[in-house]
Amino acid sequence: MSGRGFPALRANEYRDAWCGQVLADRVDFELRLAGWIHRRRDHGGLVFVDLRDRTGLVQLVFDPDESGAAFELSHQLRAEDVISVAGRVVRRAPETVNPELPTGEFELRVDEAERLGGAATPPFEIEAYSGEVGEEMRLRYRYLDLRRERMREAIELRHGVAKAIRDFLGGEGFLEIETPMLSRSTPEGARDFLVPSRREPGSFYALPQSPQLFKQLLMVAGFERYFQIVRCFRDEDQRADRQPDFTQLDLEMSFVGVEDVLDLNERLLAAVFEAVGGPALELPLPRLPYDETLTRYGTDRPDLRFGLELVELTDLVAETEFKVFRRTIEGGGVVKGLNAGAREVPRSVLDGLIERAQELGAKGLVWAFREGEGWRSPTAKFLSAEELSALNERLGAEEGALLLVVADRAEVANSVLAQLRLELGERFGLVDPGAEAFCWITEWPMFGWNEDERRWDPHHHPFTAPAEGFDPERPGEARALAYDLVWNGQELGGGSIRISDPELQQRVLETIGIGAEEARDRFGFLLEALRYGAPPHGGIAYGLDRWVQRLLHADSIRDTIAFPKAASGADPLTGAPAPVGEAQLRELGLALRSPGR
Ligand code: ASP
Repeated sequence: MSGRGFPALRANEYRDAWCGQVLADRVDFELRLAGWIHRRRDHGGLVFVDLRDRTGLVQLVFDPDESGAAFELSHQLRAEDVISVAGRVVRRAPETVNPELPTGEFELRVDEAERLGGAATPPFEIEAYSGEVGEEMRLRYRYLDLRRERMREAIELRHGVAKAIRDFLGGEGFLEIETPMLSRSTPEGARDFLVPSRREPGSFYALPQSPQLFKQLLMVAGFERYFQIVRCFRDEDQRADRQPDFTQLDLEMSFVGVEDVLDLNERLLAAVFEAVGGPALELPLPRLPYDETLTRYGTDRPDLRFGLELVELTDLVAETEFKVFRRTIEGGGVVKGLNAGAREVPRSVLDGLIERAQELGAKGLVWAFREGEGWRSPTAKFLSAEELSALNERLGAEEGALLLVVADRAEVANSVLAQLRLELGERFGLVDPGAEAFCWITEWPMFGWNEDERRWDPHHHPFTAPAEGFDPERPGEARALAYDLVWNGQELGGGSIRISDPELQQRVLETIGIGAEEARDRFGFLLEALRYGAPPHGGIAYGLDRWVQRLLHADSIRDTIAFPKAASGADPLTGAPAPVGEAQLRELGLALRSPGR
């Protein structure tokens, strides 16, 4: 990074230029700079200091013959002290040029210096970024961690993404409108964070899981195009790199169908990527219907950077003598496989794959290599020559191809093969590291059967519109006007066209077991609003932290957030969550009971 892109500073008592601006056009000028001592080296006579501000580093030279009192001070300076210095910019001697630094051909010969703030010895080195500093430590001293170049770049990229979003959506007529943080529960499927009301003891606000209901109200209100970069709160177990408070890019549009929303959103994505140096997109992005995606990849978040597609084999072995396949199929299960290509794989790896499949929940895994018309496999003897040849053909197996087959309930076969596909893709180097693959998953099921609660749950949320022909008597068949955007196998965002007809909304709520009374109590305000002239509308929300993480190729979304929580959900910096005093509890009308009671 360099100060080139930074606006000229208005001079004040501390400085008149950025460190990163000490470049050719400043040679022979007197400048005043301010910042942190990045590094200090005492070279016999001369003292060298790398001074750091937000725009980068520049070398200062303290010389006993020129620097006067500043030279004395230079001996007392310590890493991370804050100073202001004045001096003359000179070109460095060729042999002392530092090609790593944008300012590396220049230095400031100091003639005045002042220490503005002293620094205690930092608990870790600022300059050497890497995993060697434990995350707990980094978060405990986040303000020091954020001084590291990599973190500064992450926060700058995040700003760049937000700005590009605002530029693009502003240009498309969207208004950025805030919605309340203290409100009622939004049914996004997670647990709420609750805030007790002092003025109404016993009553609680819920922090928003998303602005879903408010953005719909904004459409009823006639704003037509809304967006917000907004904090959302979901009290979930902190698996899979999540944050209890995270940021969404949330948007909603009126008078649109699915294609309008997808079109706007892929242009948004392309514009943002162009602005911040993300991957170039070829539009339109592929659209994959949910059922097809599950058939071909076993998951609704397919990584399309490589093939290795799942292949449906059930019909080929429906009549087989092989009991494992037959019983599975008779019990309503499926037989699916994949062709991992012609390759030699040692027995130990094959055993490892079987173990992995079992770990993932499959009863077993059949492996085979195509050999002539048949298979080299412990399973070959149970299958007829016709079956083997049909399987080879369906799997597109070339001579020597490694074939993996799972017979199980469809969900299990899909999820196990989907995971094996990813692991094999990695193991066999099938993923081109430079490739980027985006797709929309469309035509989602409207509901999923919740076996524990013995009821239908919405696949997205209860305000998602069903596709035409919705029959409340056959919830399992209903399709939703919903879509998710998937990037290299990760969900980036999702949304839907909403229900704008209050009667239909009522029917959908009933289907998921929310009766009229409960509906009125929980979101009566939305149902009521729909009765006052609701336009057809739809939208989407993205996990913005995840976007930035992917653009940065960061390991964790925590690396994209200035002050994140640790994986445990706690904040090592502030100590949150923390107990509160009795007086505060009393004011809220609360009493604590011991956990578990
Ligand atoms: N409110 C949804 C969510 O947070 C997104 C949407 O449907 O727009 O996932």
